[in-house]
Amino acid sequence: MSSPMENHQKRWNRRLLHTFWVVWVVSIVIECLYMLFVTAVPPDEFVGPYLLRPTALLLLVVLLADAGIRMLPKHHDYLLITASALFTLIVTAVHSTLDYLLFFLFFPVMVSILYFRYSILVYAISTAAFDLYTLYFINPNIHSRISTIEIVTMTVILGVYSGIAFFVLARGRELLQNLISSYESNQALQLRNMEMFKLAKTDYLTETYNHMAYHELVDKLVEEAEKGRLLLHLAVFDIDNFKSINDTYGHRAGDQVLRKVAEVARSKVGSHDFVARYGGEEFVILFTDLDFLAAYDTMEQIRRSIASTPHESLSGRSVTVSAGINRYVNGMGKEKFFQGADAALYDAKHSGKNRTSVSA
Ligand code: GH3
Ligand code: MG
Ligand code: MG
Repeated sequence: MSSPMENHQKRWNRRLLHTFWVVWVVSIVIECLYMLFVTAVPPDEFVGPYLLRPTALLLLVVLLADAGIRMLPKHHDYLLITASALFTLIVTAVHSTLDYLLFFLFFPVMVSILYFRYSILVYAISTAAFDLYTLYFINPNIHSRISTIEIVTMTVILGVYSGIAFFVLARGRELLQNLISSYESNQALQLRNMEMFKLAKTDYLTETYNHMAYHELVDKLVEEAEKGRLLLHLAVFDIDNFKSINDTYGHRAGDQVLRKVAEVARSKVGSHDFVARYGGEEFVILFTDLDFLAAYDTMEQIRRSIASTPHESLSGRSVTVSAGINRYVNGMGKEKFFQGADAALYDAKHSGKNRTSVSA
């Protein structure tokens, strides 16, 4: 498996190789035009040294670069820079003039900028300097035509362009760094937002949904139920005689009971149901995926399970809850939906507690 970065790099390498091919074709066309319209050298003397030989050499360079990248993909960057330096050398040497070189000299430097790495830029500048001085000192035609002041000027120009290339690279890297750090801080912010979102909807003591979350949920679910997309039931339950528990065992013990009761309720409901602390020692459950009997049955399981759960904080005593349950019917609205369940809870309290009553 190759990473996206590697794939990008491969695409850019292919583009660079295509550019080499284009330059190769263009150089043939220019030489032909030069032969036909410009030079005084007769075509039969021109074709060999100025057309066939350089074209073959350039072809060799492109083919070697292509094969090299396939065989040594890790060194593609240096291979491509070397190839562009050889290109420059061949084109310039053929014409025994540095006029072309001034344009071509920057070929490897330009290519190197694409890699956004200083080491590659330094290598490219070195190859350009190598081209320049090799041609100047080795090719006698070039040497005789160029004065010392001209070679110094070319060196200065190469230096200036290299400096600009360094600035472009530094600026590019700076932008990239900014992009990365703003991406990272954006991600941290997103995570923080999610945490805040969760905190805002969670009850601190029992870790169930809080009152506000209940209202948001019921708004959405009622909407869905009105469209006939789900079966919606609401159970409201309240701990029996909680005031006397607080009075006997203290508020902290009461808090632990609240936590435990919420835990039992959460452990019994399905993944499509929502437990929320409505307030004080009163909880609600929204059942979204159960028919009436299943919802009632689940509430009864919770009630029985709470009644048989001993609390350490109450010296092993257990507490009971009373519950009321209501089914959502079209056109009811969330207020009546709640009032129905609450009235059933009132009924359960007044008929002996520790039971589940159904809304009339
Ligand atoms: P009933 O069976 O009729 O529900 O009687 P009750 O005593 O449970 O009802 P009441 O409304 O008189 O008392 C509720 C008590 O719940 C009063 C309050 O101190 C206590 N309570 C409410 N919120 C908390 C809480 O967060 N922690 C603790 N420890 N107690 C709480
Ligand atoms: Mg109570
Ligand atoms: Mg109460």
